[in-house]
Amino acid sequence: MSDDLVAFWESELKKAEERLKETPARYKELSYMRDVVPYKIILRMVRNKADTPICWGAYDCLDVPLSQCEAGKHETCEKHRDSCFLCKGRKKGAK
Ligand SMILES: [Zn+2]
Ligand SMILES: [Zn+2]
Repeated sequence: MSDDLVAFWESELKKAEERLKETPARYKELSYMRDVVPYKIILRMVRNKADTPICWGAYDCLDVPLSQCEAGKHETCEKHRDSCFLCKGRKKGAK
């Protein structure tokens, strides 16, 4: 997986975020979910495949992970250290 692909999706996401700025406030939340989040998810996927660390705290977090989750198993950004998505999912699955 090449860096070009990451750069491509980064620019696509930027365009989607620009479009969101022009969306009327009352449609913003819906528009964010529908038009921006998919780009974020794709970008996380291509970064992951390109061996670029991604934050596992939230499905739409694109911050550079600088720390690890509480369990010390997954990379997360500073903000999501206490809310690792992977650890939460595992706990839920065990029940
Ligand atoms: Zn994060
Ligand atoms: Zn974790």
